[in-house]
Amino acid sequence: MKTTLPSRKNSTPVHRARCAADFLHDPYLNKGTAFTEVERKRFGLLGLLPPQVSTIEQQCTRVLENFRRVPDGLGKFIMLSALQDRNQTLFYRVVMDNIEETMPIIYTPVVGQACQIYGHIFRRPKGLYISRNYKGRIREILRNWPEKDPRVIVVTDGERILGLGDLGANGMGIPVGKLSLYTACAGIPPEQTLPILLDVGTNNEDLLKDPLYLGIRKKRISGAEFDSFVDEFVNAVSEVFPAALIQFEDFANHNAFRLLAKYRDEVCTFNDDIQGTASVTLAGIYSALRLTGGDLKDQTLLFLGAGEAATGIAELCVSAAVAEGADRAEAMGRCWFVDSTGLVEDSRTDLAAHKKPFAHRHAPVKSLEAAVKSIRPSILIGASGQPKRFTREIVAEMAKINKRPVIFALSNPTSKAECAAQDAYDWSGGRAIYASGSPFPTCKYKGKTLIPGQSNNAYVFPGIGLGVTVSGARRVTDEMFFVAAKTLAEMTSPKDLAQGRLFPALSQIREISARIAAAVAEVACRSGLTDKRRPKNMLELMRRSQYQPVYGRLERN
Ligand code: NAD
Repeated sequence: MKTTLPSRKNSTPVHRARCAADFLHDPYLNKGTAFTEVERKRFGLLGLLPPQVSTIEQQCTRVLENFRRVPDGLGKFIMLSALQDRNQTLFYRVVMDNIEETMPIIYTPVVGQACQIYGHIFRRPKGLYISRNYKGRIREILRNWPEKDPRVIVVTDGERILGLGDLGANGMGIPVGKLSLYTACAGIPPEQTLPILLDVGTNNEDLLKDPLYLGIRKKRISGAEFDSFVDEFVNAVSEVFPAALIQFEDFANHNAFRLLAKYRDEVCTFNDDIQGTASVTLAGIYSALRLTGGDLKDQTLLFLGAGEAATGIAELCVSAAVAEGADRAEAMGRCWFVDSTGLVEDSRTDLAAHKKPFAHRHAPVKSLEAAVKSIRPSILIGASGQPKRFTREIVAEMAKINKRPVIFALSNPTSKAECAAQDAYDWSGGRAIYASGSPFPTCKYKGKTLIPGQSNNAYVFPGIGLGVTVSGARRVTDEMFFVAAKTLAEMTSPKDLAQGRLFPALSQIREISARIAAAVAEVACRSGLTDKRRPKNMLELMRRSQYQPVYGRLERN
């Protein structure tokens, strides 16, 4: 018999505490100065805290005062990380109430700086390190994790951390940061999140020489040895934590596509670099189409870069166009790529497997400018990691071809963007519909204020995670990513669009995530991917399931 989808409550696992000091040292139990008089008496905390009892609001004020006093991003990262170690509830309260200010610290761009020196700023482990030395013992390591029912695992092997390359075991900062966003943005309870670093070695010579580096001091394993290690990991997770979603993160491109293809129909998994990026970008395209008035299936897309982000976006656009009635081959034929060698076309013999389906018939073209002239795209998307490649000439050409050229410069960080927001507006006579991967400040064009949209994956992956875990979906499907994109685009208001903004304000992220989760769970129910019965009100269920950063009542059990 089907069970009804459950509703989640914040847990207060008092049984964890064996002595009074545990209440202060366990980040799930600790309330710091917010322990009430009654609790202080009851749990033996009298005298262990200053006498004044604070509210959580006062604690937030105190944290923010200190946070804002720290002059640099890395210092702020270290401060928030220490708070997370001390008091989870307060950490999430501060992050959630100040999401626009804190997200760039706990996630990109500052988390990138932190990962580069992770061994130097290390205080406490925050996730599981599974090293190649323990091949054959991965199940045992998973069972060492103190929480018994994690629902979202983010795993990396540290080989391609953001745009920073191979950072080996330092890559742990990424799963930790990303899972903090699953909680802050979507309300996945923190105890249900599990960051994992597969330490297969590193080819980063600087790290191998660094005395404070904390990973295995060996070159990476690769090929069959790597595959067998990952296979043991995936099988072990399926056995030890059968309800967990596995999100692969920041694997190098040669592994990311392969692993996704291998496991997507076997276990509950997705790759955010490929599929999450695709979904948020498709949302940006849907919003842009509200301004241009066109249909997705009629768009011609040209990408600069043909890696995880770009080909993932193209694949999802094709699936979404097909769902809207387009012919698959025709939709594929409308997606074009320029990589470091030139236009991806069918006479090339150097193409990686993931590029081949997009190698259409065309004469060789070396430059992006020539490709724009020949392909005449309605949408130009940069995901190449190459700064300033959308030149004045290219933007002007896009504006010649299109009344409202859609130009997305997605490369991160801001310094790597293919063109700056202000340049896109200036060079297109104010007509460009622009979005970027990293934030750009508000722009002006002939007195008009334009707010460039930020195509931030955090709009999508937390909601996908909530929808999948609450619905008990066994797989993550393409359809889930395009319903997520549609849902996100629908939340962009006419006022946002009028200002050039293709995404809703990040301050609405909890509601955005709840709606995405509901849409994803509807797909799970409709597609027979869950054994749970569809609830009467899916959106209400998602809202109710969201973790709230409030101190629970502590009771001895
Ligand atoms: P990737 O390494 O998988 O792909 C990079 C691609 O760029 C490769 O195909 C490479 O051949 C191509 N390239 C390199 N040099 C080039 C050149 N000179 N001209 C043309 N193409 C060139 O990396 P990825 O994961 O696809 O990420 C690419 C960029 O997209 C990064 O800067 C990343 O920060 C950004 N990104 C943005 C978002 C977002 O906006 N939400 C999400 C993910 C990635």
